[in-house]
Amino acid sequence: MKKLNLFLFINLSIFSFAQEISKERVVNIVSTLASDEMKGRKFGTPENDKAAEYIASEFKKDNLDYCFGDSYLIPFEYKGQKGFNVCGIKKGTSEKSLAFSGHFDHIGTNNKSGDNIYNGADDDASGISTVIGMADYFKDKKTDHSMVFMAFNAEEIGLIGSKALANDGKLNPVFKNITALFNFEMLATESQFGKNAVFMTGDEFSDFDELINTNAVNGLKIYPDPYKTEQLFYRSDNVNFVKKKIIAHSISTVDMNKATHYHAATDDINIVDVENLTNIINNFAKTIEKLNTKNFAPKYNDKVNFDF
Ligand SMILES: [Zn+2]
Repeated sequence: MKKLNLFLFINLSIFSFAQEISKERVVNIVSTLASDEMKGRKFGTPENDKAAEYIASEFKKDNLDYCFGDSYLIPFEYKGQKGFNVCGIKKGTSEKSLAFSGHFDHIGTNNKSGDNIYNGADDDASGISTVIGMADYFKDKKTDHSMVFMAFNAEEIGLIGSKALANDGKLNPVFKNITALFNFEMLATESQFGKNAVFMTGDEFSDFDELINTNAVNGLKIYPDPYKTEQLFYRSDNVNFVKKKIIAHSISTVDMNKATHYHAATDDINIVDVENLTNIINNFAKTIEKLNTKNFAPKYNDKVNFDF
């Protein structure tokens, strides 16, 4: 009897938790990218390449296909310096896809004494942990939507990596099927709306947030952008896909009134609210699991500006 119970318990555990992303996994991804060895992942440095290679290795573990050619790493050049974006795809029943992105580059180091490394745990290792977490979650699942996973480079120097990728003609067969892009940007701290809550830039331009909130599980909620004067919708990587008329919004928890770690050396693993970030990743994954090509077709309204 004891043996049987143990057997049942083990099986139930597998069924209940197998797909969940663990806190340990989230810490592992964020602390790898935000480690001192990565020296702030600045575009054009060997450490930036190393970060891209790390993300590619995680995409491989999640059995993603290449977006193009024979590598997850998609090279581009900017002002004589070379770098990579990272792109992987999971085929669903339909060609129509949902895309998940974040940026993996950060701002490097400074010359001051003491802690001179900008680790960028929140900005944006947290977003990359969400993208990889999503790939983990759906690894062994059959989905209606195909899924595109992207890690952008050179965000910090002017959204350069996402621009290069969005305008890379070789990726057109992938991008033409994107129904919506979720760009995850700084989710490591509690939002001004509390835990398990995020805000979305450009909420006034589409019904994306309403559709997600209708399907949201475990109390996850997307709030309107409270920092509208900052024009974040037009200042994040999503904008390079907005220009292609793809539904693309940035999702964040950063409290702009309190975020003293923004572009500071203090943005390291210690500021990450691991419990909240892990919950948000799992709740997004479970919410997205409910979406299919019939119940999810977000649209822009006429307030959005494609010409800027
Ligand atoms: Zn930044």
